[in-house]
Amino acid sequence: MKLTKRDWTEDFEYENGMYRNKCIKCEHEFTGYKRRLICKICATSKADALKRLLGCTLYILQIIIVWLPILLIDILLPIVTNKTYEQCRTETKEKLKDGWAKVSA
Ligand SMILES: [Zn+2]
Repeated sequence: MKLTKRDWTEDFEYENGMYRNKCIKCEHEFTGYKRRLICKICATSKADALKRLLGCTLYILQIIIVWLPILLIDILLPIVTNKTYEQCRTETKEKLKDGWAKVSA
């Protein structure tokens, strides 16, 4: 028997691990555990796509978490309060310092 990349070679050592199955996704034949539905290529590409999606989502979340406070303080606050960017920054810094002094006192 010739091995292909679609075969689940890690299943071979188990009982019922060398069944000829037909992949429900690409419809190619592969060898592996009798209850497997998809070949290794289709399973791996799906896992990779999921990993990429997760990585992308985390990246976007990270951008939102890091940049949202900066965006709020540096861009929206001067517009809302009609003060300059520098005034807002100094006030925010002082408020934070006061808050921290109250907490640590
Ligand atoms: Zn397949």
